[in-house]
Amino acid sequence: MQKKIKYLLIGQGLVGTWLGYFLQERNISYAIVNDSKSSSATGVASGVMNPVTGRRMVQTWMINELLPYAVAAYEVFQEKTNTKIISKAPVVLIHPTQQMKDSFDYRLEHDNIYLKNNNPLAWHSFFNTHFGTGEIEDCYWIDLITFLAAGKKHIADNYIESNFDYGNLKFIDNGVEWDHIIAEKIIFCDGVNTMLNPHFKLLPFAPNKGEALIVEIKDLPTQHIYKSNMAIVPWKENLFWVGSSFEWDYSNSEPTAAFKQKMIDGLNALLKVPYTIIDHIVGIRPANTERRPFVGLHPIHPQMGICNGMGTKGCSLAPYFTNQLIEHIENNAPIHPEANVQRFKNLIAP
Ligand SMILES: Cc1cc2nc3c(=O)[nH]c(=O)nc-3n(C[C@H](O)[C@H](O)[C@H](O)COP(=O)(O)OP(=O)(O)OC[C@H]3O[C@@H](n4cnc5c(N)ncnc54)[C@H](O)[C@@H]3O)c2cc1C
Repeated sequence: MQKKIKYLLIGQGLVGTWLGYFLQERNISYAIVNDSKSSSATGVASGVMNPVTGRRMVQTWMINELLPYAVAAYEVFQEKTNTKIISKAPVVLIHPTQQMKDSFDYRLEHDNIYLKNNNPLAWHSFFNTHFGTGEIEDCYWIDLITFLAAGKKHIADNYIESNFDYGNLKFIDNGVEWDHIIAEKIIFCDGVNTMLNPHFKLLPFAPNKGEALIVEIKDLPTQHIYKSNMAIVPWKENLFWVGSSFEWDYSNSEPTAAFKQKMIDGLNALLKVPYTIIDHIVGIRPANTERRPFVGLHPIHPQMGICNGMGTKGCSLAPYFTNQLIEHIENNAPIHPEANVQRFKNLIAP
């Protein structure tokens, strides 16, 4: 028997979960097809929302709009799902070099919103703080493992565990048909898998491999995120996520011995407290050359949309842009021009 719905979503990572959640809030019919055996960036991400980026410690794109929106959305999500998802977690900077300390000191005095000095003695018993410490306020940690599980439970009636295969997708009048499902819109939120999609594969994706270690550090307080040459982020109880690499050129998505050794050397130099390595994980970030998301409908197949390209910032971008996509389709609201996929009209609909 055929099932008729308004939206067919492909993928339940950060993006698919938010799309499903917002559609459910609006009482709009949808189904979400997810293959939990395929690659998921969300499942291995550290879940940090940090308003400051790079060596020069500048504010990230649109953060004054994105961060309050995301914080409010995760707070409502956790209330509705009766879970703990979001925690305020200031980033403690353990300056790895004099140059990084100078860069921090400069920014502290110029166009500063988020940086502040802290007391290095507070961290002295946990870390080697040769070049001093600092702090970034208004940072958050999203427990993405709990988020994905709670999201899946919340949308369980509309969740289909299956591998979506493009070969079986048919365009029909005002919609699409796939495996006995007829939908007015199909939205691709399948992460790096969208690169296989014949209609969107020409977008300037630049997938990026990231590895991390899961490490037990019994004596380290879990209310902060720590950043030096590496990030140390709360994961579960006494476990921390330690990473990461940013590899544009890679031949496979396997963990590497070189990364593991680099983290061990870094931890040995940084930590004064003991640690034990528990796991080594890998994910591929759906990044792109412009560092801006791909959001909107296909220029010549308006029954097909995309919400992707979240790169290294999915936690703060996904709530805002999934909502923007739904508002665009339902109420003709504009999509931010720097995120609108229509900017690549000449590439995907020549
Ligand atoms: C190591 C690492 C660290 C990161 N740290 C952070 C961080 O601290 N903060 C931050 O904001 N971002 C971080 N990111 C980036 C973040 O993970 C991504 O921006 C975000 O998770 C992308 O979400 P997504 O839903 O687009 O893709 P994904 O999470 O990859 O979700 C895609 C979904 O589609 C499903 N799927 C794929 N193919 C198919 C198919 N054929 N059929 C059915 N289902 C399919 C997959 O199973 C998956 O569930 C990190 C990424 C990595 C790899």
